[in-house]
Amino acid sequence: MTDSDARDDTPAARLTAIGARIARAERIAHRPAGSVKLVAVSKTFPAEDVEALIACGQRVFGENRVQEAKAKFPALREAHADLELHLIGPLQSNKAREAVALFDVIHTVDREKIAVALAEEIAKSGRRPQLLVQVNTGEEPQKAGVPPREAVAFVARCRDTFALPVVGLMCIPPADEPPGPHFALLQKLAGEAGVPLLSMGMSSDFETAVAFGATHVRVGSALFGSRPYPA
Ligand SMILES: *Cc1c(COP(=O)(O)O)cnc(C)c1O
Repeated sequence: MTDSDARDDTPAARLTAIGARIARAERIAHRPAGSVKLVAVSKTFPAEDVEALIACGQRVFGENRVQEAKAKFPALREAHADLELHLIGPLQSNKAREAVALFDVIHTVDREKIAVALAEEIAKSGRRPQLLVQVNTGEEPQKAGVPPREAVAFVARCRDTFALPVVGLMCIPPADEPPGPHFALLQKLAGEAGVPLLSMGMSSDFETAVAFGATHVRVGSALFGSRPYPA
């Protein structure tokens, strides 16, 4: 590695580079500057790595496990009151209380049992995180999310029956397919469901997601480096 590589490979340099790529993708898509929010996915990385990005101005972070977020973020929040924490991994109903207490946005509502548990905890706690419904756009059996044909009705049921603050959709396209058609499908479903937010796009495909209207991109390894252990 040369000296200049070493200088370029810092948290600040990575954050600047990703920010510039998002800004460029917004311009190409004729979208307003700043219309896409970068969620820095810090799963598996220690609090020091999160601190390094906070020092560069990043405030929005994503975690995929309630327990891991609970271990890392309360202390970070004490020091930085303006952090915004997103749950991007599957939620079990027995973790709904902790999730409502800890997260500002939950991207992974995907079944009635979770909707019921969240409604209960929101009513009890008075905290009202923004909610997104995860859609299994590739209909992969091993993947979470409601099937595309049920997504619009599920959003309506969450809002009407459970009075939940559902404001968007989220997807993780199949790893072995081009993501564009999946992002297009999610965008269409969000229009039909009447929700404004679209959480889609990761390190390898966030620019494509911006072209299809992503409002939140979830970027981990391109910001933090390759993960020390599987998530
Ligand atoms: C880990 C993860 C990401 C980030 O993935 P990278 O490829 O590291 O950017 C995004 N979304 C979800 C749901 C994840 O679990």
